Amino acid sequence: MAKEVLECSFCGRKKAETSLLIAGLDAHICDRCIEQAHGIVLEEAKQDSNSELSSELKLRKPKAIKSFLDQYVIGQDQTKKVMSVAVYNHYKRILQPQSDDDIEIQKSNIVVVGQTGTGKTLVAKTIAKMLNVPLAIVDATILTEAGYVGEDVETILTKLLAAADYNLEKAQKGIVFIDEIDKIARKSDNPSITRDVSGEGVQQALLKLLEGTTVNVPPKGGRKHPDQKFIEVDTENILFIAGGAFDGIEREISKRLNMQAVGYGASKQGEDIDKENYLKYITPRDLKEYGLIPEIIGRLPVLTHMDPLDKATLKLILTEPKNAIIKQYEKLFEMDNVDFSITDGALDFIVEKALEYKLGARGLRALCETIFTDAMFDLPESDVREFKVTKTYAEKALSKSSLKQLKQAS
Ligand code: ADP
Repeated sequence: MAKEVLECSFCGRKKAETSLLIAGLDAHICDRCIEQAHGIVLEEAKQDSNSELSSELKLRKPKAIKSFLDQYVIGQDQTKKVMSVAVYNHYKRILQPQSDDDIEIQKSNIVVVGQTGTGKTLVAKTIAKMLNVPLAIVDATILTEAGYVGEDVETILTKLLAAADYNLEKAQKGIVFIDEIDKIARKSDNPSITRDVSGEGVQQALLKLLEGTTVNVPPKGGRKHPDQKFIEVDTENILFIAGGAFDGIEREISKRLNMQAVGYGASKQGEDIDKENYLKYITPRDLKEYGLIPEIIGRLPVLTHMDPLDKATLKLILTEPKNAIIKQYEKLFEMDNVDFSITDGALDFIVEKALEYKLGARGLRALCETIFTDAMFDLPESDVREFKVTKTYAEKALSKSSLKQLKQAS
């Protein structure tokens, strides 16, 4: 019987002509064909991820964006509306085909002014989640602390790259949330600035990123890996959202409004001013007075504000959002077959304490944790299948805990 000559079932090369021939059930494949096939697989995967990327960025209309935000962010209607339009315009600009008219749509970078814990980060996070784009959250105060501004600004993009799993294309369409932008205001008599470092240099460095530029970014950040290859990141299509509390800015706004009210053209308008919420009337000029340089303000053309959280809003935050705190506890207890419920009176009590301790929305979780801890400790191993939190229970549980500690936690 003639000896069977093995050959590659794909290219027909004889075994002797290959470096490697792998046997399958009824076929063989040689090293060259494996390599070729591997190339095809990679190419296909790349195309898939590209089309995934554009389908991921399927743009919703502003109203749909707002309804999505409504599921997670309570109140803040005006800001949700303004941001829905800004986000829509921003991504419309990215997705538009190159046109030959000379109309270049500018970026809709956003600045949000509002007290801490009112949902600024939450809005940015929710928008990124909805669009399925990477999000980097950076603190502007970190930029102030180091002297080497250029390096620090790059860190923002390193973070964004990491959030995008080092997919450059994704990162370049991502969102950067710069928190505490007010802390790099340049006024030295600004009460909120405790460092003597002028923020102006940082503002200048940020300006370039906001405008759109290409930056060489060390992929893993830092100077520890000098042999690392740089990744060139184009910031042209990155959406920047800056947030800050701008402590004391209300005073400036009220001064301005009062001046207008007594000046020429003063009308009844003055009487209609909502004195509980001066931020409503914020203008770019107020940011300039506060110490942001005009160029930065110009690159953050969408200015909006967060309303302070009142009792009713805080109560809704406890129960309404898709992943509301109370819903989370319900689920946790349910896993132990415990039927959890909370009375309206207890909810009111928690909200009042959050306001009393000036903890805002951030404090709601800390308060709940304190009030429910004993039950979460005891019930999993007991026969009790029901846990009803009343106002009396909440009061008692809280009085046992150290209130001081809770205040410090804010
Ligand atoms: P900020 O960035 O303004 O300091 P955050 O967005 O970090 O505030 O809010 C802190 C937490 O408070 C959020 O994780 C969220 O649970 C809750 N929160 C704040 N504002 C709202 C809101 N308007 N709707 C729902 N939850 C909110």
